[in-house]
Amino acid sequence: MSGPTVTEADATAPGALAVVQALLNTADLEAGTDELSDLAALSAWLRDQGLAGADDAFALGDLERVVAVREALRRLLPAHGDGAADPEAVHALRDAARAAPLVVTVSDAGAPTLAPLRAGVDGALARLLGIVARAEADGTWARLKVCAAEDCRWAFYDFSRNRSRTWCTMSVCGNRAKARAYRQRGARRRGA
Ligand SMILES: [Zn+2]
Repeated sequence: MSGPTVTEADATAPGALAVVQALLNTADLEAGTDELSDLAALSAWLRDQGLAGADDAFALGDLERVVAVREALRRLLPAHGDGAADPEAVHALRDAARAAPLVVTVSDAGAPTLAPLRAGVDGALARLLGIVARAEADGTWARLKVCAAEDCRWAFYDFSRNRSRTWCTMSVCGNRAKARAYRQRGARRRGA
């Protein structure tokens, strides 16, 4: 028996997928805070994560585009396992991908690699969506999930053998959901 641990909500996704997880968790829905609060915070965050370089400049509207992708991903992640993808989130992600192309480039040494076609936020989003596409190809995407609690939606990586995790932490959101169900049953029994 392995019970919940304090670190389960913070277990980091493998490789570059950790960047996508970090993006999702820039917003703390429960606390009502958002690390990506303005353009300066956005450009610092993108550089820290390796999604943008020192030369990349950001403009008005870029913050909204990154947040739109973040929230589209958050809405798509619960579809893992139950099949039904949110069509609005699919459209939003499709639009973002179309505006931020990745192309095959060949280095001087002859090595082909995928690289963003454009600089700035287009380049940053292209790198981000490239990570998502590679994670889909290597099977890790299906393990990136968001907490089932509507007011939480914290992104976590499901390391469980049967990919059965639903909540960011059983000890917090899992127990909260159970307590809520228990209270509702109690209310019904009292004839409420
Ligand atoms: Zn949660």
